[in-house]
Amino acid sequence: DNIDKVGHYLARFREHGVPNHIGGEDRPAIGNMTFETISPIDLKPLAQVAHGDARDVDLAARAARDAMAEWAAYGGEARRRLLHRIADAIVAHAEEIALLECVDTGQALRFMSKAALRGAENFRFFADRAPAARDGLSLRGPGQVNMTTRVPIGPVGVITPWNTPFMLSTWKIAPALAAGCTVVHKPAEFSPLTASLLVRIAEGAGLPKGVWNVVNGFGEDAGRALTQHPDIRAIAFVGESRTGSLIMKQGADSLKRVHFELGGKNPVIVFADADLDRAAQAVAFMIYSLNGERCTSSSRLLVEESIHDRFTDLVAQKARAIKVGHPLDPETVVGPLIHPEHERKVLEYFEIGRSEGASLAVGGTRVDGPGGGCYVAPTLFTHARNDMRIAQEEIFGPVLTAIAFRDEAEALSLANGVQYGLSGYVWTSDVTRAFRVGDALDAGMIWINSENVRHLPAPFGGIKNSGIGRDGGDWSFDFYMETKNIAFAT
Ligand code: NAD
Repeated sequence: DNIDKVGHYLARFREHGVPNHIGGEDRPAIGNMTFETISPIDLKPLAQVAHGDARDVDLAARAARDAMAEWAAYGGEARRRLLHRIADAIVAHAEEIALLECVDTGQALRFMSKAALRGAENFRFFADRAPAARDGLSLRGPGQVNMTTRVPIGPVGVITPWNTPFMLSTWKIAPALAAGCTVVHKPAEFSPLTASLLVRIAEGAGLPKGVWNVVNGFGEDAGRALTQHPDIRAIAFVGESRTGSLIMKQGADSLKRVHFELGGKNPVIVFADADLDRAAQAVAFMIYSLNGERCTSSSRLLVEESIHDRFTDLVAQKARAIKVGHPLDPETVVGPLIHPEHERKVLEYFEIGRSEGASLAVGGTRVDGPGGGCYVAPTLFTHARNDMRIAQEEIFGPVLTAIAFRDEAEALSLANGVQYGLSGYVWTSDVTRAFRVGDALDAGMIWINSENVRHLPAPFGGIKNSGIGRDGGDWSFDFYMETKNIAFAT
């Protein structure tokens, strides 16, 4: 049934390809080049995608610049209403979005059906903040009153990764629009379908032409050109840490403001006094859901020595029970990884872990899944050391590395002993320890006795090599807006 439905939704892309969208029009790339996007389920082509380059980016940036005045003139209340209409339209297209996302990324339908709705929530959340986005303070000085206000920074570039492209695009673009910015979006080349659908949904809901433009293409040409374009005032980027570093260099000449949500190698610390069943369930969920292709996945399990074997057995049982299968099957938890290139990387880490001397408790192999695509087994390495590559490097697959610790001090030193600092998870029934450890962890987001449950008003982002800046709440507006001070003599 789902396969028939997705065939129907794909027909348009198969026939017309995935175009760029500039100034309200679907367009082929100026150079008339295309590239193929494949499904990780069977590696067969899904569609031809416009292969944009600097010329397309220039056209899109100019469209975004030209639309700024009209969009700014809309005012916060009108933007609020329009962004809610976009959210309504996303909900109306939720099935189409979820099914396309599954075949384009390999992510399981049970998660993608929620991701489409979360995309709508992102729009509603920032819609409601749009009317107050420009508010500031009044500060009285000797002989003057200062009034601060915020203004949109201008056209912005948004560059997104392939793992959960729909949800992430809404998370970055909704606040930009609420702030009054216009957007040029460069989606990831491995999963471009839903970005094309999303801009169409937004314009169908009444978004003026040119406010939101999409240029497809590769990082090294379209992405790079966007980060270098003089009309683009800021770049919101989600992706790998080393790409963030490149973008910072590329944007230096035009003094780009940057916001980075980057990689992670996030620790989950389990103390002996934790609710172990609940912790095991959360640990398994946070690494094996979304194919492990999740920036906040808890990919390093730090477990107190006295419960190491018992706890890793619990996680291993859960890993073995996970259904690896076709992403459109509602029972599937782990679908195929995004692309053969990425699959190769994950398989390589299976070898690296073995050769480094970690014990393979579960998985560590390819799986012959439906369609013959990029399926790998949920994997658990135990008895690892923190200096192993499987403990230090982001694998971005369903691969968990467990390390035993003796005491709290060692747990913290292991947890903080990586280049990343996105999220951290602590399981203990000792409240004082929970606060102490949470406070001492080098990460932008800590969850105590919980998996990653998002609260949109709370700040989202990482420290160290995991990012620069925060999203959520009003923090998104700190990035997409400039603060201006007007001083009046009294
Ligand atoms: P990536 O860095 O390879 O690519 C991300 C995007 O950047 C793509 O659109 C790509 O085309 C573009 N790009 C590549 N090179 C560029 C360049 N030189 N200039 C401009 N743009 C360029 O990342 P990926 O492999 O698509 O995604 C996986 C990574 O994303 C993981 O590291 C993951 O942790 C991270 N991620 C982070 C978060 C977060 O919120 N912190 C969320 C999701 C994913």
